[in-house]
Amino acid sequence: MTPHGEQLCYTDAYLRSIEARVVTVEAGDASLVVLDRTVFYPGGGGQPSDRGLVLRAADGRSWTVRGARKVGGEIVHELEADGGDPPAAADMVEVDLDWARRLALMRTHTALHALCGVVWRDYGALVTGGNMEPGAGRMDFEFERMSGDLVGAIEATVNTELAAERDVRVGVLPRAEAFAIPDLIRTKINLLPPGIEEIRTIEIVGLDLQADGGTHVANTREVGGIRVTGYESKGRINKRIRIELVEPA
Ligand SMILES: [Zn+2]
Repeated sequence: MTPHGEQLCYTDAYLRSIEARVVTVEAGDASLVVLDRTVFYPGGGGQPSDRGLVLRAADGRSWTVRGARKVGGEIVHELEADGGDPPAAADMVEVDLDWARRLALMRTHTALHALCGVVWRDYGALVTGGNMEPGAGRMDFEFERMSGDLVGAIEATVNTELAAERDVRVGVLPRAEAFAIPDLIRTKINLLPPGIEEIRTIEIVGLDLQADGGTHVANTREVGGIRVTGYESKGRINKRIRIELVEPA
């Protein structure tokens, strides 16, 4: 089913504010609001959903958006009750992201893909999972022979790749084509339900290509660098690497 609302986070990650019309409102502890267009990312793939504000110009009222999620293909915004009524259907509102937080998540997400790309290219290790918050994240790998020395080398290589100012591109591939690309098979593409006909991809040009729904910076120079803050064994094969961002010079 095609959603009614335009989901702009997938096509323009740098769009931080937009005018929208309220489509549906479900009042409650957190009011659930669907808009005809939005810049909010609903969460997924280890990237948390955005936060921000909805403002109604007609009377100057505003609501805090504490999160968003996908329900039946639509992006639903969760508005704090803040005492008082939620906006009403057909209201015109301005939708604003907490941009500092979103940009930190974009940099972190791209950094994690660079880490995946290096670990795959240099060590052939598959990624099994990951998670992030603004400025820090972790990735799990099937990486039996990981050691402190290797982790130090990985950190240095990732920083070299980020400093190489590689472009980061969003693409969309028909399912059959996506399944023919060996680099994509190593990610969780094979877990996608059969109904999904198109696969969104994120390419760090020259380094990494993954099926991914998240928001990313346009060039690795915007990430700055990374520091490995820890690594641990989650079993004989499964290893976890934790990173945090280092600000661009
Ligand atoms: Zn990702």
